Amino acid sequence: MDNHSIINVDLGDRSYEIRVGTDLLDQAGTHLAPLLAEHGDARRVIIVTDTNVAEIYLARLETALDAAAIGHHAVVLDPGEHTKDFPHLAQLLDDLLDQGLERGSMLVALGGGVIGDITGFAAAIALRGIDFVQIPTTLLAQVDSSVGGKTGINTRHGKNLVGAFHQPRIVLADIGTLATLPQRELLAGYAEVVKYGVINDSGFFGWLEQHGADLISGDDAARTEAVAVSCRAKAAIVSADEHEHGARALLNLGHTFGHAMEAECGFSDTLLHGEAVALGMVLALQLSEQIGLCGPGRADRLARHLAAVGLPASPADYGFSADALIGHMHHDKKVRGGTITFILAEDIGKAVIKRGVALEAVHDVIAASLRG
Ligand code: ADP
Ligand code: ZN
Repeated sequence: MDNHSIINVDLGDRSYEIRVGTDLLDQAGTHLAPLLAEHGDARRVIIVTDTNVAEIYLARLETALDAAAIGHHAVVLDPGEHTKDFPHLAQLLDDLLDQGLERGSMLVALGGGVIGDITGFAAAIALRGIDFVQIPTTLLAQVDSSVGGKTGINTRHGKNLVGAFHQPRIVLADIGTLATLPQRELLAGYAEVVKYGVINDSGFFGWLEQHGADLISGDDAARTEAVAVSCRAKAAIVSADEHEHGARALLNLGHTFGHAMEAECGFSDTLLHGEAVALGMVLALQLSEQIGLCGPGRADRLARHLAAVGLPASPADYGFSADALIGHMHHDKKVRGGTITFILAEDIGKAVIKRGVALEAVHDVIAASLRG
């Protein structure tokens, strides 16, 4: 049990640890046994995963649980965002109940953000709430969605519109699982890593400029460091504002623009969430410069780093129209009286919540970026 970083998420009696390392999957039984011991003799877990992840990692997790004499079943879902809907949730709940789910059972989400979100929501509502743990296997899930307790599914009205806050009992981020993640998925997750530097850690941003390429190309030490720093940043923000009444909104940096671009692409594979966040963060810094909130050069510095590691940094290639993107922001109900609330930045490492930003300035910045 050596060789991993521990980050505490402080939330009173719902506090938990994020463990980051390279051998956590094979030691999962050791990490979960103390949590299961609290449930008396109900030492069993139900693993929820998707077919892609099951093929590569399910047997290893099962072996690890066997070694700790923890009983287990598995439910394997289709991969992909379409799984995060009511029909799949209903099926999942029935499957769990078929397996004899009881109050002392624990769910284990083994997979990316899709699996974490639907499993966490199932845990929040099954039997009015049972324990669950996260074993995230994508970079995006390790640095973002597995931490902080937001769970949920999509409806035809939009993404993540139905859900619950339900904190996991522990998060085991095994860096080794990133070795099999497709490069494009890895890069998309990296955008959320960069986000933490831009929000409140210019030193980390500088570190990423130095080591980001190593991280992308497979350096486990760099990956471990980046995931641990990211989780520490998110844990601090979530501890201060679990239900997003204030500072947690900073985590939405790049997401208002990004969400509009994802919507314009119909939430298809044309633009992954993390890619949209990369584009959105550059636009947020351009807007910050345009309205005089920060000095020149920051947006360019960010765009240079994103492009250097292989992320998209300019929306010019996607054929968007400024009006269409602004239309999506209206639909998001973030617009009031011709102004909109944005997460902007006074500098790299100094993001702020900015109310009353004129839509005209937003339009100008988008239009300029679409000209390339
Ligand atoms: P995200 O975490 O980005 O929200 P998903 O849960 O949709 O992503 O996972 C993205 C894709 O990557 C899915 O097809 C999933 O099955 C696959 N996947 C997840 N983890 C791994 C992994 N460690 N190795 C290979 N493929 C993975
Ligand atoms: Zn995001």
